[in-house]
Amino acid sequence: MRVTPTVELLKHTEDPERAIALAAKLCYSKSDLDDLRSDVDASDVGRFISMLYSLGHLSAFEHASFTFGIEGVSRALLAQITRHRIASFSVQSQRYVDIGAEFNYIMPPAIAELDEEQKSGGALQKEYDRQMKQMHEWYREWQSRLNPGEKGNEDARFVLPNAAETKMIVTMNARELLHFFELRCCNRAQWEIREVAWRMLELASRAAPAVFAKAGPSCISGVCSEGKMSCGKAAEVKARRNASQNGK
Ligand SMILES: Cc1cc2nc3c(=O)[nH]c(=O)nc-3n(C[C@H](O)[C@H](O)[C@H](O)COP(=O)(O)OP(=O)(O)OC[C@H]3O[C@@H](n4cnc5c(N)ncnc54)[C@H](O)[C@@H]3O)c2cc1C
Repeated sequence: MRVTPTVELLKHTEDPERAIALAAKLCYSKSDLDDLRSDVDASDVGRFISMLYSLGHLSAFEHASFTFGIEGVSRALLAQITRHRIASFSVQSQRYVDIGAEFNYIMPPAIAELDEEQKSGGALQKEYDRQMKQMHEWYREWQSRLNPGEKGNEDARFVLPNAAETKMIVTMNARELLHFFELRCCNRAQWEIREVAWRMLELASRAAPAVFAKAGPSCISGVCSEGKMSCGKAAEVKARRNASQNGK
């Protein structure tokens, strides 16, 4: 069955902005922890965080962590997201989990777009579904020939495509998320991880608006860092960011 991505913010550091402000104030203050706590309570945390961001004092941002649940994404996405090393991942196993009677997969939107363009009545999408069904059959065949259970699954999965669905739980701190959003919300990033990154940005921004106020690709708050490879669509990207900040 075709599936599409779901992203949830499962949990985050309690009062993430205050946690960051407290850590940063400690660096600049002679006060003890009790004084700092009341200082942070009294201060304008949002403005303070914005100042830290502009100063590049990003180590304080590491004190706030965010845990996302992600489903309906491909193993192709998994290969990309796990390249981010300052993060923790738990991923559904293809050894312990039998794909069973139903094989879930992701279809690139370009196939439906091509169907539309060619006015082919969905023929290309059907062709793709047929290919996925074939691979699932191969998987089942190998599973029954090899040992059923964990051993069978671990070898049968070799015939599965990059399109196979995976599910994961990902934790990143706010500093890593800022870096992740810069790379992966950019139009240069591959479509699937880009869509997931935008959804994560929306959720993180709701939980800690000051921390992620300027988050996103470099063109959001300055000049595009992609040089000749730039998509040239900075205005469109900024509009998307504004819309997502306003909850649209
Ligand atoms: C558009 C795009 C195309 C890509 N194409 C390819 C490709 O063709 N082939 C490919 O292999 N990868 C590709 N990548 C993946 C890319 O090379 C990185 O592996 C991935 O984006 C993780 O980013 P990172 O290493 O900056 O950050 P993270 O792993 O998220 O780490 C964050 C930061 O911590 C620091 N850091 C982490 N680990 C170390 C370390 N060991 N030593 C020093 N500093 C460290 C760095 O400053 C790093 O930027 C692509 C990424 C993008 C966005």
